[in-house]
Amino acid sequence: MFMVEKILERSRLGEDISVADGIALLQVESLAERELIRATADELRQRQVGETVTYVLNRNINYTNICEQHCSFCAFRRDAGQAGAYWVDWSGILEKATEAVALGATEVCMQGGLNPAAKIEGTSLAYYCKLVETIRQASADLHVHAFSPQEVQFIAREDGLSLEAVLVALRDAGVGSLPGTAAEVLDDDVRRILCPEKTSAAEWLEIVGLAHRVGLPTTSTMLSGHIETVEQQVVHLDLLRQLQQRSRHAGFDGISEFILLPFVGQEAPKSLRRRVGRDQPVLEDALLLTAVARIFLGNWIVNHQPSWVKLGLGGATEALRWGCNDIGGILMEEHITSMAGATGGTCRSEADLVGAIESLGRPARQRDTLYGRVKVDAVVGAI
Ligand code: SF4
Repeated sequence: MFMVEKILERSRLGEDISVADGIALLQVESLAERELIRATADELRQRQVGETVTYVLNRNINYTNICEQHCSFCAFRRDAGQAGAYWVDWSGILEKATEAVALGATEVCMQGGLNPAAKIEGTSLAYYCKLVETIRQASADLHVHAFSPQEVQFIAREDGLSLEAVLVALRDAGVGSLPGTAAEVLDDDVRRILCPEKTSAAEWLEIVGLAHRVGLPTTSTMLSGHIETVEQQVVHLDLLRQLQQRSRHAGFDGISEFILLPFVGQEAPKSLRRRVGRDQPVLEDALLLTAVARIFLGNWIVNHQPSWVKLGLGGATEALRWGCNDIGGILMEEHITSMAGATGGTCRSEADLVGAIESLGRPARQRDTLYGRVKVDAVVGAI
């Protein structure tokens, strides 16, 4: 108990905690210590970003599930021609974006499988740029939050381009920011089992650092609760913290938020399910890691978001007491986690999110993708 109290005291004084400190916090067992960690994360959240909990009106579009890779946790991917394989055509993309605008969305979030056939006149980059341009036909004001570092690497490889050239072209086509997904756990031993065909940890960090350098902000994520150790979890947080430090030293906070994505494996391939030994996240573990992430990253990444798709709205609401200050977006549709067997649903109304926030007595406010205010008349509750 004494050591945990000392670590928490230092973090309350504004210090960054070390990797060893983070590991010690994740190894606590008593309820009293867990409560101390929760209360510290909540206090730091309050000091770093205040009481208001934000949310975003967005639409998720998973434009295809045809993918050349075979991540061991993925229930979303299909081979071309396999039952359930889909590819949203251009009119479908425009229709979804138009519907999003009509419902007041400020953001379209787009990610999909790695489909070598997704090309226009032989180039992948042209296909991806057309996705962005099609979204922006619905409204030039929509923020396009799209394409993971894995998709960036895929385009570069397919077209024989540099990573930087791909990022610049996507930015110029209208991408406003990148999802920091495909990070899973930034440890190559874990990645060899989870996603052996994906970027290495170093390549993921390189692509996100390059995105920041060309002026594209990103989010950051961790897929937790499968085969990784607490040591690997904290090293992952440390790599994100260092990435943000490099970006801040260059004059730009490149990472806008941290999102914890607890593993849902109900429909995942059997070998990984057997190894993990359960289908749904353990809420207590996810909450402790949520609090430690706030304590570890909060001086550098102030916005922390739980995933209601993974945890359910009740679990995500509880996470707002463990260091989170944002509840994410309404999504309108989601395929990747729902096909994995998540029970949190794929669409939440604005009233659902606001109701969850206000059930804690905290004010709710609509934000844009990069945490700016949307408009005064969208403010819900007291600030
Ligand atoms: S997680 Fe992404 S890259 Fe991996 S198999 Fe699924 S769709 Fe493909």
